[in-house]
Amino acid sequence: MSGAKESRLKLAGAAKKYGPTIAVYPLDLEVKTGEFVVLLGPSGCGKTTSLRMIAGLEKPTQGDILIAGKNVTNLKPGERDVAFVFQLFSLYPHMTVLENVAFPMRAQGLPVFESKRRARDMLRRLGIEHLALFHPARLSGGDQQRVGLARALVREPKAFLMDEPLGTLDGGIREETREILRSIHNQAGATTLFVTHDQAEAMSLADRIAVMRDGRLLQYDHPRTVYEYPADLFVADFVGSPGMNILKGRRNGQNVTLNGLDISARVTDSEDIFAIEEAAAEGACFLGVRPQNVIISETGARCIVEHTEVFGSYNLLSLRYQQGFLKAWLPAGVRFREGETVGVNFLSSGCRWFSTESGKALAWRTLEVTCHATV
Ligand code: ATP
Repeated sequence: MSGAKESRLKLAGAAKKYGPTIAVYPLDLEVKTGEFVVLLGPSGCGKTTSLRMIAGLEKPTQGDILIAGKNVTNLKPGERDVAFVFQLFSLYPHMTVLENVAFPMRAQGLPVFESKRRARDMLRRLGIEHLALFHPARLSGGDQQRVGLARALVREPKAFLMDEPLGTLDGGIREETREILRSIHNQAGATTLFVTHDQAEAMSLADRIAVMRDGRLLQYDHPRTVYEYPADLFVADFVGSPGMNILKGRRNGQNVTLNGLDISARVTDSEDIFAIEEAAAEGACFLGVRPQNVIISETGARCIVEHTEVFGSYNLLSLRYQQGFLKAWLPAGVRFREGETVGVNFLSSGCRWFSTESGKALAWRTLEVTCHATV
């Protein structure tokens, strides 16, 4: 893989329709040279179609595809110099693992010795050098997947387009392979566009995440920004595990009162560069607050403990209040009984506001959060 090649990928108003189905609405998205971008979203949101338009496997119904500044919309896949990596790899059964991985380089005319040296090096980086002389039939599904990944990564295309390449791997191996993939990228810096519906995978791999829903791009930014400043209610819920707590409230001047919880906030309209939409200073709104920004305190607003999920060094508390449910992370040592009443407050720096009409983030800054009740 080489990071030096100019290899920007660009969808310029690219859209795709299948009969009456709009898979992707006109999409503007640019991946910079050397960047690792993840397309994230639920099943059917148009991720794969977007990737296939760049690969040349689908022709946009309208708009253009540019690679390294050149319009490639009418070029065949083989003329685009990009490697497409699928979820399911098929290996050549009559070749050993080493021969399988060396094959793309042999096909490009590289001498046997050099092809095998590079293939062995890639197998070592993926931690599967010991499989070099095995035939695919002897390998587990997970090992076959990693061999397939090695065969794809060993090429030096302008860019990699990856469609859920870790999808069939199980927990531990999946995380390990994810880390290896990211470290290979850090060393070689090949431009990469990676599709997944797994938000944790996106958060850990991406330089930038593009969140899609129903064929539209909702937000395109650094993982931390997407997590801390979601562009709308969908992103607030989809990114993070669990997603943001969403509570309904009402703004009156600077004051917001929440429905069914004795907590209020003082807000101001701000020049917040991450906020999307302005809203009137009167009327209904949503508050979004992540579970780690929910504070359990003796003097907080009353909630009832529904149940506790244990996650190693942390517990996830489910709390019921008059109008709904809240989740809160707690250190493992802090325990509450089911049915117990606890006090809750919110960290003001963790409060985000959303429009009830559009669902989009509002340009409000939280000055202070006040709790009125005691347990
Ligand atoms: P998944 O994660 O399930 O692969 P996705 O986000 O990648 O989903 P796409 O596969 O791009 O979504 O599909 C987007 C929409 O386009 C879906 O409604 C899908 O049914 C539709 N679609 C995709 N390919 C075709 C096709 N060849 N013919 C008809 N409709 C299609």
